[in-house]
Amino acid sequence: MERMTTSQRLEGEEIYELTLRPKRLKEFVGQKGVVENLKVFIQAAKKRRESLEHILLFGPPGLGKTTLAHIIAREMGVNIYPTSGPILERPFDLAGILSNLNQGDILFIDEVHRINKAVEEYLYPALEDFALDVMQDKGIGAQVLRLKLNQFTLIGATTRSGLLTSPLRSRFGITFRLDYYPAKDLYKIIKRSSKILKIEITDQAAMEISSRARGTPRIANRLLRRVRDFAQVKEKAEIDLEICEYALERLEVDKRGLDDMDKRIIKTIIEKFNGGPVGIKSLAVAVGEDAQTIEEVFEPFLIMEGFIKRTPRGREATPLAYDHFKIKPRHGPLFDK
Ligand code: ADP
Repeated sequence: MERMTTSQRLEGEEIYELTLRPKRLKEFVGQKGVVENLKVFIQAAKKRRESLEHILLFGPPGLGKTTLAHIIAREMGVNIYPTSGPILERPFDLAGILSNLNQGDILFIDEVHRINKAVEEYLYPALEDFALDVMQDKGIGAQVLRLKLNQFTLIGATTRSGLLTSPLRSRFGITFRLDYYPAKDLYKIIKRSSKILKIEITDQAAMEISSRARGTPRIANRLLRRVRDFAQVKEKAEIDLEICEYALERLEVDKRGLDDMDKRIIKTIIEKFNGGPVGIKSLAVAVGEDAQTIEEVFEPFLIMEGFIKRTPRGREATPLAYDHFKIKPRHGPLFDK
């Protein structure tokens, strides 16, 4: 195993992410519905010479929320100021950023569900009236001074839309949900990345990585780089299916792209609940993960790939799930049919 500290690893990864990040809407692969609507909103705003409405981007990590925010800024021809919920500790931090925004600029807040209450309340008049209420003095003589801001667009990104307060959620005029990518989209992303990084890869190998990347561009790009390491050590000029399979085996990447929590969820349904149906709350307790995270982050992928089903009585493991883990179904409605 390579020995690196987390921060070194992150730095390396961040550099790659910047290089690989699509810059324009036409380079952004997949998410057709989102991209088409975005085009319309951008064109309309430009025609009216107005700033875009506030936008909420919602979806699991690594699906392109930050990328899209930067693309939107570029397509609108405005500046973007990125920050994140946990960094904004005091209203003062926010005031500093807001008062520096020019007309039409974009404020990008990642993990927007993690903004604290005091900052959030300060944000409301800024979002609604493009104004800041500043307290002058304290106590009895205190006065509130209203400062005018330039019109700006807030783009908020969150993996956990369920944790947004409803007043904050209602201030976003546009909400886009990003979904996990089908393998054919990840294939295009891998081909694009390998071109940028000058990695030779066969179509078959690119297909293999796409089907094992958990529907996530960030994971696809990461696997591409890890597989390249193996190819280089083996002195292969090109990544072919053989070296790709060898590397993914060594990296212990599941054949269908499942990660540890995915596996735990499926196995728990099968082993502890006899294949289901099981309610989300009981499932959450059994796997030791928060119910909303299961619903928003893990379950959509498992459902898309056909490992679990949502029924009115709860979650059920499908025959594919039993097959994947080579577990023989004992009994249950699913298998009596
Ligand atoms: P998020 O903000 O949702 O966690 P990012 O925007 O940081 O995800 O995306 C992670 C990486 O995946 C980016 O560096 C980018 O290279 C790649 N990526 C994400 N979405 C796409 C896409 N639709 N097309 C091409 N590359 C993408």
